[in-house]
Amino acid sequence: MTPNVMGAQRRPLIAGNWKLFKTVAESCALVQELKAQLPAVTRAEVVVAPVFTALASVRAALAGSSVRLSAQNVYWEAQGAFTGEVGPLQLRDVGCDYVIVGHSERRQLFGESDADVGRKARAVLAHGMAPIVCVGETLAEREAGKAEAVVVRQLVAALAGMTDAEFANAVVAYEPIWAIGTGKNAAPSDAQHMHAAIRGCVASAHGQSRAASLRVLYGGSVKPDNAAALLGQSDVDGALVGGASLAAGSFCAIVAAAG
Ligand code: PEP
Repeated sequence: MTPNVMGAQRRPLIAGNWKLFKTVAESCALVQELKAQLPAVTRAEVVVAPVFTALASVRAALAGSSVRLSAQNVYWEAQGAFTGEVGPLQLRDVGCDYVIVGHSERRQLFGESDADVGRKARAVLAHGMAPIVCVGETLAEREAGKAEAVVVRQLVAALAGMTDAEFANAVVAYEPIWAIGTGKNAAPSDAQHMHAAIRGCVASAHGQSRAASLRVLYGGSVKPDNAAALLGQSDVDGALVGGASLAAGSFCAIVAAAG
C-alpha cells in the first residue's frame, strides 16, 4: 500500500464510487478520460470503484497511471460454498488496492449489520488491501440528536480487533445518508464536527497516534463547487464521491480541489 501519511500530514484520498453504473466499455472510456484530465501534480491519492464485472478491464486500462482500484463490496470468506459472492482473495487477485465496505446502500438495501461490516473490513485487511469503511446517520437519527452515537456505534464495530499494522491501512468515510445522492451536502462545519468526533472516538479506543494517522473522508453530494470548502476542514482528509465521479470533468475538479 502507498503510505497514507506524507510527512506529518495525512495524504488526501479522493475515491469515485461508480455504483451500479457503466458497462465495461464505458468504464474503460472514463479511465482514458481521467488519465487525460487528472491534474499532473496532485497531493491526492485517487481511487476508482467500478462494478465487479469491470474490475479486470479497468485495472488494465489504469496501467501507467497512479490511480488505484477499489471494489464496492466484498464477502468476508475467501472461498467456499457461497454462491454469488465475491471474496477478498478474488479482489486482491484482480488487482484491487481498496474495498468500500458498509456503504449505506448496502446497509439499507441489503441488510448489512455493523458486525458484517467489521468482518468485511478485517477480511480486506487480511488480504493486503485497505477497507474504506462507511459510516453515517439517517435524517431521522440526526433530527433525534443521535447522529454521533450512531456513527460511533458503527465505527466501533468496524474497527474492533484490528492490529496496529492493519489499522494503519484502514480508511473511514463519513457519509450522512441524507446527503447521499440528494444534492444536499453537510455544511463544512458540520462535517468537521463529525470528523473530529470520529477521530476523538478512535483516539480513546485505539490511541492518539492511530487517530492522528487515520484518514477520514467525507461523502454525500460532493461536487466541484463545494469540494474546496469541505476538503479545507482540518479533519476532512478526502472525499468519497458518487454522482460527480461518473464524469471526468467533475471528478478531476474535485481532485484538483484537494491540492
Ligand atoms: C456515495 O455513493 O458514496 C456518495 C457519496 O454519492 P453522492 O456523491 O452521489 O452523494
